[in-house]
Amino acid sequence: MDFEVAYSPEQEQFRAEVRAWLAEHVPQVEGDRDSDENYEKYRQLGRELGAKGWLRPAAPVEYGGGGLPVDHAIVIAEEVDRYDLRLPPYYDSGGTLGGASILVWGTEEQKRRMLPPIFRGEVVTWQLLTGPEAGSDLAGTTTDARRDGDEYVLNGEKVFVGGSHGADFLWTIARTDATGERHRNLSWFLIPADLPGIQYRRMELLGDGNEGIGSGYKNTIYFDNVRVPAAQLVGGENNGWQVASTHLELEHGAGGRIGSNRLFRMTREWARQLKREGRPLIEHPDVQERLVDVFVQTEVTRLLNLRNYWMNQSHQRMSYEGPQASYYGKMAGLEVSQAMMDIIGPYALTTDEEWDVSRGLVEPYLKSAIVALHPGGTADIQKVIIARRIGVGRDIAERAGDTGGQAAF
Ligand SMILES: Cc1cc2nc3c(=O)[nH]c(=O)nc-3n(C[C@H](O)[C@H](O)[C@H](O)COP(=O)(O)OP(=O)(O)OC[C@H]3O[C@@H](n4cnc5c(N)ncnc54)[C@H](O)[C@@H]3O)c2cc1C
Repeated sequence: MDFEVAYSPEQEQFRAEVRAWLAEHVPQVEGDRDSDENYEKYRQLGRELGAKGWLRPAAPVEYGGGGLPVDHAIVIAEEVDRYDLRLPPYYDSGGTLGGASILVWGTEEQKRRMLPPIFRGEVVTWQLLTGPEAGSDLAGTTTDARRDGDEYVLNGEKVFVGGSHGADFLWTIARTDATGERHRNLSWFLIPADLPGIQYRRMELLGDGNEGIGSGYKNTIYFDNVRVPAAQLVGGENNGWQVASTHLELEHGAGGRIGSNRLFRMTREWARQLKREGRPLIEHPDVQERLVDVFVQTEVTRLLNLRNYWMNQSHQRMSYEGPQASYYGKMAGLEVSQAMMDIIGPYALTTDEEWDVSRGLVEPYLKSAIVALHPGGTADIQKVIIARRIGVGRDIAERAGDTGGQAAF
């Protein structure tokens, strides 16, 4: 059985079109990819992709998406990945995941109002789920939203959220019935980010300043009597956990980034250029063995993600596949970044121009692989979900959250 997708001549023609367009439009950036200047360039690219319908290629046209079939969406995702970018080409956690939640749970009015700016790249949305008291146990949040006329009044705190360059909207989950039954006492809000009473404070974390790979920083965000219009509640009062199950299903790997085995190709290139004992690294058997490990792990990660993207977009019933890809990707990330360091050895440490073919990237990759164990559900939590879905630890296998076939666009 061949897992690789075979592309038709028509799909390859579309790929050539996408590749040519990207070659013309993807900006040249220098230095820190997360600098203000570079971030603006990527925002602009996002708007141009959005205007073409390629920012959220498979999302419905009437809500600002491209309305393209799944195979075209895959081609675009693969071509964007060649630049080590994703869709959108900047941090937009809430739009990527939350757009699908609006499609599944929003009213028609909400879809027409909220989705086009997200799908065209006109606004940035962050997801604010984790609280100091509620990480893995998200349903235990103590952020409160009390109804007051046509508004909800929010109080609480969210941690590890957002990015470096501000947002236009914030997704959050809050208790709308503080004494209600667990999982039936929460609601899901899309909040304008500039409402009075919202305070932002930067968090210092291990992954900060991973300049070469453009990772930004996270924030603590406080809600202090923030008055949110009731029209911003999505999915019905006290139905927030059900909305979250859509959002989290996507975040747990059911249809996110496909990715590529770029890290393998990059490391192989370094091994061709660098020498040990007068011979290119790639001629040494120990390096060859490690390179094969890197290939297998990056390739399996890519294939699991590709399968999930396809399953999700073609409305297949999903089960353990999302957390399986997430868990495998997190663990493979650790091993791949370690292998990259083992392969180039002391070259990973130098910034001397003559030898620094890795451009100082190995150390940030290593740090980011450790950090990546946590967001979007920790590696442990992915295992817990897989176990429930395959009937381990529970007699009746748990069903996956309803994504309505909506990939994280
Ligand atoms: C870089 C980064 C980016 C992030 N971005 C966001 C964001 O944009 N938005 C957002 O809302 N949150 C974000 N987070 C927060 C992230 O979702 C949480 O860190 C994560 O859900 C874990 O929660 P916690 O940190 O409170 O750890 P805890 O839930 O307290 O877990 C502590 C440890 O216990 C383990 N554990 C907990 N429960 C179980 C269990 N039932 N079984 C087995 N082991 C368990 C965990 O795996 C972990 O090792 C981000 C975090 C990081 C590090």
